[in-house]
Amino acid sequence: MFNLFKKKPEPQEEKNLKFESRYSYEWKDDVPESERTAENMCSPFCAKMMEMHKLYTRSELQKISAFLGYDVVARGGGYWKDEENGIPCKHTWKSQIVQRK
Ligand SMILES: [Zn+2]
Repeated sequence: MFNLFKKKPEPQEEKNLKFESRYSYEWKDDVPESERTAENMCSPFCAKMMEMHKLYTRSELQKISAFLGYDVVARGGGYWKDEENGIPCKHTWKSQIVQRK
């Protein structure tokens, strides 16, 4: 009945398999579950990213950064309004290791 926890996969032995990092956009760990709502979105950017639910490569994040004019890797949705008076973004990137196909 409580079979929620799958056994961890065996460590990958084969050397020729390629792994790479992808990044998903997530709520920061310190944001309570009850605050993870659409009304609490820090910016239209965050709303869009959460809606997309995609994994991004580093170079895709660099393109998004170039488009927005700031480093989304370091700052997520940045600050609402401005850095001194604004509220910091409640989101962060989490890296996921995926196997390259
Ligand atoms: Zn945010």
